[in-house]
Amino acid sequence: MAKITRKSRPSAKRAAVKGASKSPKRAAARPARGREVSKKPKPWTPAEVREAFTRFQNANPEPKGELEHLNPYTLLVAVVLSAQATDAGVNKATRALFAVADTPQKMLALGEEKVREYIKTIGLYRNKARNVIALSEKLIADFGGEVPKTRAEIETLPGAGRKTANVVLNMAFGERTMAVDTHVFRVANRTGLAPGKTPLEVELGLERVIPPEFMLHAHHWLILHGRYTCLARKPRCEVCLINDLCRWPEKTV
Ligand code: SF4
Repeated sequence: MAKITRKSRPSAKRAAVKGASKSPKRAAARPARGREVSKKPKPWTPAEVREAFTRFQNANPEPKGELEHLNPYTLLVAVVLSAQATDAGVNKATRALFAVADTPQKMLALGEEKVREYIKTIGLYRNKARNVIALSEKLIADFGGEVPKTRAEIETLPGAGRKTANVVLNMAFGERTMAVDTHVFRVANRTGLAPGKTPLEVELGLERVIPPEFMLHAHHWLILHGRYTCLARKPRCEVCLINDLCRWPEKTV
């Protein structure tokens, strides 16, 4: 997956963005835990939001998720396995698993014990193996072996919550959903784009402010931004595409 990297800075254009910060405050590089959600930054103007997502789009027009999968079913399984685990760790385990089981029927034929063996390097693997088998059974029993296309139906599957449903709807079915993981949550709060105390609050806030034409890829732009630029412990503000727009008082540029 390509990183979101900074292209040439459109300085004149930026200066024209209404409400853009002209002299951002310098402060410590290391964020104090818990501060981000307690601040009430000035809301972004619609022009600023549009400018930020235009820059993300220009830098990375077709962002992709980093969880490896072969079809909607393997995407669903990969997302369920990714709870409290890294995408890289999940990919390492699922490459071999999906080579032998890329449908619910094949997963059931493999059985819980063997699934456990394949994913034992992933945290909470026992519980996750149980869920993979249970969700495969439910897909066959209730959905004809196919991944359903509504949030409500996906959320009935064992191990699948709102975030899983949003990722699957977005990546497998092209829906304009916003899955809020730890990176999206941090970026939305730090930047002041959509502050919120819970993932749901942030999700709804982002849906409110992001123009519809950016929503298909917004989830990946924000994840990649959090993963590679707006890092939790030491954000790379000096190479950040939106450092003039970001509201975080502790940004380092
Ligand atoms: S300037 Fe960029 S990297 Fe720094 S805190 Fe803001 S969004 Fe994150």
